[in-house]
Amino acid sequence: MKPDIHPLYPPARIVCACGNSFETKSTRGSFHVEICSNCHPFFTGKYKLVDTAGRVERFRKKYEAAAKRAEEKKSTKAKA
Ligand SMILES: [Zn+2]
Repeated sequence: MKPDIHPLYPPARIVCACGNSFETKSTRGSFHVEICSNCHPFFTGKYKLVDTAGRVERFRKKYEAAAKRAEEKKSTKAKA
């Protein structure tokens, strides 16, 4: 290694919002994260949606209604 060009790379403790923490090394020292492999849906296999003010619900309703209308149109055309 070349002298005087490498940053300090000391051990660091990473703490997640879910309470999980682990030891690693980092040039920026210890820090907090919002999500880690212990709580991320990709690793837990659990699907968790952060829904703000029923937006998902509204989206579903909107497209359910549209699908119904399309279905009705189809059936009336078939009768005629
Ligand atoms: Zn976590």
